Amino acid sequence: MRTIAVVGTSVAGTRAARSLRDAGFDGRLVLVGDDPHVPYDRPPLSKGFLAGTLGEADLALLDADDEADLALELRLGVRVEHLDAHTRRLRLADGDEIGVDGVVVATGGRARRRPGGAGVVGVPALRTLDDAVALRTALGARPRVVVVGAGFLGAEVASTCRTLGLDVTLLDGAELPLAPVLGDRLARSATALHADHGTDVRLGRSVARLRTTTGAGPRVTGVELDDGAVLPADVVVVGVGIVPNTAWLEGSGVRLHDGVRTDAGMVTDLPEVVAVGDVARYDGAGSSDAPNDRAHGTRRHEHWTSAGEQADVAARNLLAGRTTVTFGPSGYFWSDQYGRTLQLAGHPGPDDHVEIVDGDPADRFTARYTGPSGNTTAVFGMGSPRAFGRLRRTELVRARQAA
Ligand SMILES: Cc1cc2nc3c(=O)[nH]c(=O)nc-3n(C[C@H](O)[C@H](O)[C@H](O)COP(=O)(O)OP(=O)(O)OC[C@H]3O[C@@H](n4cnc5c(N)ncnc54)[C@H](O)[C@@H]3O)c2cc1C
Repeated sequence: MRTIAVVGTSVAGTRAARSLRDAGFDGRLVLVGDDPHVPYDRPPLSKGFLAGTLGEADLALLDADDEADLALELRLGVRVEHLDAHTRRLRLADGDEIGVDGVVVATGGRARRRPGGAGVVGVPALRTLDDAVALRTALGARPRVVVVGAGFLGAEVASTCRTLGLDVTLLDGAELPLAPVLGDRLARSATALHADHGTDVRLGRSVARLRTTTGAGPRVTGVELDDGAVLPADVVVVGVGIVPNTAWLEGSGVRLHDGVRTDAGMVTDLPEVVAVGDVARYDGAGSSDAPNDRAHGTRRHEHWTSAGEQADVAARNLLAGRTTVTFGPSGYFWSDQYGRTLQLAGHPGPDDHVEIVDGDPADRFTARYTGPSGNTTAVFGMGSPRAFGRLRRTELVRARQAA
């Protein structure tokens, strides 16, 4: 291959560029993305950057040395509008075209918006650096904050706002929002952190409508819930998931279905196109490491670690021209809330037994998930990174080596 374009300059895209060079690709490597900023990391946007303890420079995923070492052609602030797989050309929004022999799709997702929030001042989402800068500025006026969506992102925003001493309400339509990921028992421990730190938690309640000022340029003043309660608010942060960025691939021959469909090696129906990161919906049936992925058929992850793991696999397969290695996810992710890091590794099943290994489930602890045959499927830690690391090594890594 002479030219490979990586589309998307975030976690998955930058990692794919590195992986391609590590795997021996010495041709032209173009990294193109519509975000105008030097490639940056997203996890700190809801944590240290939002709190004001980290600056923009702390987020950089690439510096000038990396760019030179990797011999990257970096095209920032330009959207890719279309891939023509027949002529092997990418059409860019600035009118330029790039002839390619291979493409890495790393276009991630954009924040899902809440109906009724469009055009209303004070209803931000948090996905990009610009979003985070705007939200950080808004928090400086010490607003009353309502966070809609108590998944990991919403939980982190609530935590950071409380750390800043703001009045925060965390709202979710589910009774136990993290249960699908952590199971009921551990989701309860994670949810309890909010109330313990003074966040007003409203679960099983949804937004009936936003209250706003009238006239031109409406500004949010509150949130009316489905039970009639009204929460006064100056800022309503919406954290209700993402929509994969795939519009530019329509009509390209790449199969799309809630993301870009790939095989177990992150390769699409076109062998010269691979997909990685939040946008990639891969075939879990090929994975021997993740029994729950096998059960689900296809999976799409929205985690930093899997984005990087997939990039390594995809780079090797793209260069091989076919799937030679498959993606075996470690199932690791973390979230920082109220001074505690929540960490999960492995693949818990919905009916797994959960056992507290040590610590206090109301504060800092580690836990083990076991499947029907008594095997450890996953380990979890809250505010206990060293004990979590030990447990992960003994229960998952060594067990895998012994298998
Ligand atoms: C605030 C925040 C906090 C997070 N915290 C954690 C955490 O604690 N732990 C964890 O595991 N994960 C966390 N995540 C998730 C993690 O950051 C994502 O899984 C990761 O960013 C995915 O990387 P990606 O490169 O696949 O996609 P993205 O980060 O979405 O990047 C895709 C890039 O492609 C660009 N793009 C899209 N369409 C086009 C186009 N047509 N042309 C050109 N460019 C395009 C986008 O603008 C974007 O720059 C967090 C995410 C956010 C937003």
